[in-house]
Amino acid sequence: MLGRNRDRLTGLLTREGFIELSRNFAGREGLAVVWFNLDNFKMFNNRFGFERGDEILKEIALILANIFSSDDDLLARFSDDNFVILTDWLKVEMNIDTVQEYLYTLHENVTLRLRAGIYFPSENEDIRSAFDRAKLACDSIRKNHSVSSCMFHDGMSKELALQQYILDKLDYAFTNKFINVLYQPIVRVSTGKICEAEALARWNDPELGFISPGEFIPTLEQYREIHKLDIYAMKKVCEDYHTRQARGLALIPVSINLSRLDFELCDIIREIEAAITINNIPREMLRIEITETINDEEMTVLNLGIEKLRAMGYQVWMDDFGSGYSSLNVLKDYNFDTIKFDMKFLRGFDVNKSDKVKYIISSNLSMARLMGVQALAEGVETAEQLEYLRSIGFDKLQGYYFGKPMKLDEIFALSIGVEEVHSS
Ligand code: C2E
Ligand code: CA
Ligand code: CA
Repeated sequence: MLGRNRDRLTGLLTREGFIELSRNFAGREGLAVVWFNLDNFKMFNNRFGFERGDEILKEIALILANIFSSDDDLLARFSDDNFVILTDWLKVEMNIDTVQEYLYTLHENVTLRLRAGIYFPSENEDIRSAFDRAKLACDSIRKNHSVSSCMFHDGMSKELALQQYILDKLDYAFTNKFINVLYQPIVRVSTGKICEAEALARWNDPELGFISPGEFIPTLEQYREIHKLDIYAMKKVCEDYHTRQARGLALIPVSINLSRLDFELCDIIREIEAAITINNIPREMLRIEITETINDEEMTVLNLGIEKLRAMGYQVWMDDFGSGYSSLNVLKDYNFDTIKFDMKFLRGFDVNKSDKVKYIISSNLSMARLMGVQALAEGVETAEQLEYLRSIGFDKLQGYYFGKPMKLDEIFALSIGVEEVHSS
C-alpha cells in the first residue's frame, strides 16, 4: 500500500500517513513523541555517496521498526533523515538507548549518532504541535555531542514562539522599517583612521523591543529566508551611501554580511549589481563578508559565487575565521581578500597572561601574511589588545574600543577621523 501515506524508500509512514493514523490515538494518556535526526547525514552522503546514504536510512528504519514494534507504536520518516515515533512514554527512554546501541554496530568507519528529542503530549493535543516540540528538543542538542537525547521543556516553547514571530513578521518589519542597518567603524592600523565600516542589521520591534541578530539570523537561516534580510540590508546600505554621495559628503567602503545560503536561495550577485547600478555605487566601495562553512555540498556554488564576485571587482572577506571546525580547509579551498579573525579569540584575552591565545593568533596571522591576504581582528575592546594586535602586524582592527555600530553619518563625526576615499 504505497502512496502518499507510505515512504517509498523505507516503507515507513510518511508525515501525512503519520498525522492520519495518529487520530486513532486521540484522547489517550501516557504517550511520547520522539523526533530522531541523524548527525552529519549530509557529510555521510558526501563521503560515501547517496546510495550508501539511502541504505543507512533503510537500516535505521529497520532498527526503529524492530524496537518500536508494538501495535501501539507509530513510525514515520518525515523527510531526509528525520524519523518520528509515537509510542508509550514508559518505555521510551530505554528504547532510545537500544536504538543507539544497534546503531554503533552499523557502520565500521563512521560513528553514527541518532539524536532524539522527546515530548509528552497531553490528551487531545494537536499532533503537529507535539512533533514540532519534539523536533525543537532534538535540535537543541545538535551542537552538544555529549548527549544523544533531550526532553522538551517550556523554555524551548518560548524559543519556538519567537521563531514563529520572526518568520511571520519579517515582511511587515521590512515595510515598516523596524529593521534597520547600523555601521561599525573599521580602523587601518597604519594610518590609525577609519578606512571602512561593516553594515549590521538591527530589528527594533514595537511589540518585542530589540531582537538581537543572534536570534533572528539563525532562525532565518534555518527556515531559508535569510536572503530576504540580506537583500534588504544590502539595498539599505546602497541607499544610505547614495544619500551621502548626493549631498557631496565623504564616503568609505562598506562591508555587507551575506549568508552562504544566499548563493542558493536567490541570484544574490544580480541583486547586488542591480542595487549598485541604481544608486551609482562603484564596486570597489562594497565588500562582501561570508562566514566560513564546513558543508562540502555548499562548496561548489559558494566557490563559484566568490570567484565571480572577485572577478567583477568586489573584495570578498572571510568572516569569523577560527570559529568553525575547518577554518584551515576553507582558507585552502577559497580565495579571500581579507580574513576577519573571530572575536572569540579575544574574549577575555589578557595580553599579559594568555600566552596560548597569543601563539594561536600570531601563527594564524603569519599564515595569512604568507598567503598575501589582509588580516582584520574583530572585537577589540581595550587599549592593551589594540597595542598587542598592532605590534604583531594586523592590518585592520574593529571593535567597541573604536566604536559600536552607529548611523553612517555618525562614523564621520568620530574624533579618530576617516581616511579620505576618492570615489567616482
Ligand atoms: P559578525 O558579522 O561577526 O558581526 C560582529 C558582531 O560583533 C556584531 O554583533 C557587533 O555588534 C559585535 N561586536 C563588534 N565589536 C565588538 C566588541 O568589541 N565586543 C563585542 N562583545 N562585540 C562586538 P551583531 O550586530 O549582534 O551581529 C551578530 C551577527 O549577526 C554578525 O556577526 C553577523 O554574523 C550576523 N549579522 C548581522 N547583520 C547581518 C546581516 O545583515 N546579514 C547576515 N547574513 N548576517 C548578519
Ligand atoms: Ca561580519
Ligand atoms: Ca565576525
